[in-house]
Amino acid sequence: MDALVVGIDLGGSKMLATVYCGAKALGSAKRTTDPTAGARGLATGLVGTVRAAMEAAVVKGSAVGAIGIGAPGPLDARRGTLTGSPNLGVADFPIRDCLQDAFGVPVVVENDVSAGTYGEHRFGAARGRRHVVGVFPGTGIGGGLVLDGRLYRGANGNAGELGHMIMQLDGPLCGCGQYGCLEALASRSAIARDLIAQAAIGKAPAVTAKAGTDVRAVRSRMIARVLAAGEQPGVELLERAAERLGIGIANCVNLLNPEMVVLGGGLVEKLGDWLIERAADSMRRHALPSLAEGVEVVAATLGDDAVVRGAAALAQESLARESPA
Ligand SMILES: [Zn+2]
Repeated sequence: MDALVVGIDLGGSKMLATVYCGAKALGSAKRTTDPTAGARGLATGLVGTVRAAMEAAVVKGSAVGAIGIGAPGPLDARRGTLTGSPNLGVADFPIRDCLQDAFGVPVVVENDVSAGTYGEHRFGAARGRRHVVGVFPGTGIGGGLVLDGRLYRGANGNAGELGHMIMQLDGPLCGCGQYGCLEALASRSAIARDLIAQAAIGKAPAVTAKAGTDVRAVRSRMIARVLAAGEQPGVELLERAAERLGIGIANCVNLLNPEMVVLGGGLVEKLGDWLIERAADSMRRHALPSLAEGVEVVAATLGDDAVVRGAAALAQESLARESPA
């Protein structure tokens, strides 16, 4: 019988923990993340969420063999720390020790997008594929890499930051401090920024009506409404973002020769095939034909469960490595 494991998705707004027996979910718990609570508050919240998931699953802590957690980077995989997560309000947070001390089991710490991509590779859209790039446009653009059937972590666990590939030397300022990164051009935040700029000059009435000029109020649902209403120049702006996303993917295709690219996250869910088809078309026009040919570009299928499922699978595999049958 498979050992029980816990998968955790730690995000800037919520944390989700699920207890698994093999691929079967036994129980879950979800809590709000409070970025103002500091390291102690985050630790308490995490441990409490895992305990609540164990209660929901009706299992004792002693029955759990390992914990896997997907958390926003950057992280130091060797030390098991989150080195600086502005969304979580902590710096150099010892996330592995925090969970290991509370539950006395091995803990695998992974970048959240890497864990999500791995979840899609094991259980979702990329099942059975050995060479996969995951692309998750949201506040930023996260990436995850499965190469030759294994999650590729890089030297310190931060591989896959494809949102910061520089696309335009004189482009808009990115959150990382560079100019013209892919995520400064094609993330949900970049689209929101440009829609608000249009709203400010009276060119985006649907946006103005709902969000005024507040960039943070522009969510994926509202972006989808601009598209559905066919409101120009908003639609043109979305087409440009999709084209650029495709160019970013083309760069990944040229570098890594994947067989599949999985697009996920709220924006992809809301824009659906419209975005996938445009990004795929742009990728095919910009990547080398010999590599672009045959690359499937598809939507993620696990939704909010991708990270917990991937993190749990990684925890399960770490146990299997420790005690081969
Ligand atoms: Zn950047």
